[in-house]
Amino acid sequence: KHDLQGQSVAIVGLRKSGVAAAKLALARGASVLALDQNETLKPLEQTLLNVKDGRLKTILGCFDHELFDEADLIVVSPGVALENYCLASLLQSGKRVISELDFAAEVLPRCTKVLAVTGTNGKSTVATFAGQMLNHSNIRTFVGGNLGIPLSEAAFECLLSPQEPYQAAVVEVSSYQLEIPNKFFSPSVSVILNLTPDHLERHKSMTNYSTIKCRVLSHLSGRKIAILPMGNPYITDAIASHGNECMFAWIGTYPGIKVDMEQKVANFNVPGIGLLSQLPLDAMKAVGTHNYSNAAIAALSVIGLDVGIDIAAISSTIDRLKAPPHRMQIVHEDGYGVTWVDDSKATNVEATYAGLTGLGEKKAVVLLGGRSKMLDAQGSNGFEHLIEPLKYHRGVVTFGSSGALIQDTLSSYGVAIPCLRAKDLKGAVSLAKNMAKPGDVILLSPACASFDEFINFEHRGKFFQKLAVSMKV
Ligand code: ADP
Repeated sequence: KHDLQGQSVAIVGLRKSGVAAAKLALARGASVLALDQNETLKPLEQTLLNVKDGRLKTILGCFDHELFDEADLIVVSPGVALENYCLASLLQSGKRVISELDFAAEVLPRCTKVLAVTGTNGKSTVATFAGQMLNHSNIRTFVGGNLGIPLSEAAFECLLSPQEPYQAAVVEVSSYQLEIPNKFFSPSVSVILNLTPDHLERHKSMTNYSTIKCRVLSHLSGRKIAILPMGNPYITDAIASHGNECMFAWIGTYPGIKVDMEQKVANFNVPGIGLLSQLPLDAMKAVGTHNYSNAAIAALSVIGLDVGIDIAAISSTIDRLKAPPHRMQIVHEDGYGVTWVDDSKATNVEATYAGLTGLGEKKAVVLLGGRSKMLDAQGSNGFEHLIEPLKYHRGVVTFGSSGALIQDTLSSYGVAIPCLRAKDLKGAVSLAKNMAKPGDVILLSPACASFDEFINFEHRGKFFQKLAVSMKV
């Protein structure tokens, strides 16, 4: 339990993950130096009240990098890029620098089977679905990582109550958490859902981004199952180094995992896992056709974990699967017959594309806008990819700091439906209200980050939900 007794651990970044890592380091017996350049945070001495033995020191604001000389180990939070504080050169020079994820994984009990879920879009949804499938089958499961509770909290709990370990841990993993190569994080099943340009402001190039994401495959354990999207060139290149070490299950092909949208059934045929089976998905209530595929992937992942759950057990849970809030969430049906859907988490074009193609026969007035992300290598923001799915909808209202850019792009590509512009989300909602006809959807699926007007996507989604219920019919 006290494997770090007598050692000094520096924790860099004191948001949720850093605080959890500090708790874990203290429980492992280390002395902790907790660092964050944000002076407005609370020192951990004030929040971790039961640490009275002088093993904890917090420094907020600018700090001298020489402090790292004293540390035996540096634990880096996902929010801190490796290029900060000379961390990359410290790592290169042989200093022990590890991610919060790996720090937690080092002490996770061996009996806890880990499912890792990464990708550009759908991570939280698939992780949530997998967690729901496991929990409905009474498997003691932790769900967290990038979503919700950091993995260090799970490791901390297991350390304190070794007699009650988790049987499964479903870990949503972001590229930020894999920026430092992992050694201890060794899932039995790793999923990369999809990979399209995102977070390039931090990772700089797609090659870098995909190499980082594929680290989720680098230390597979148990049945060593890798669930990957078929035909994604970035993945094909990046997994070249993983050779035949793992069992591949390809998404969107057969053999592999293929969802028959007409029959609403998932077909699995994954050589090596010994599966040749079908999972009916017609009982799904979660909105959006992409959620059929998310459910199918979650199901195969759960079966791959080998914790005693089979297709029959999973099929009885399909009707209870619920995506997390702000992902195609129905928030209001108004007196005019319009359904309001909050997909505020759609912060890039692909997520919005999935939303637009997932509404079946319904037509939507789509709210697009916010702060656009970086241009891709071709110098495009990608909004033109929305022209095709928009054809089938009622109209578009753009808003926020990228409102004009989106409207210009869509117009220059000859968008087939009316496209208006408002200053902000509130203005966009009132224009949308006038465009929508009974039976339509008003869909907030903005394809942009929220930071021009809101603190984060949750804040934006909640604001939209309030407007939805308060708009006069
Ligand atoms: P992440 O955790 O990767 O950001 P989320 O599950 O939070 O993913 O979903 C982010 C956005 O992507 C939401 O708008 C959601 O509707 C959309 N989405 C969910 N699953 C998929 C998928 N398989 N492909 C594309 N977009 C998806």
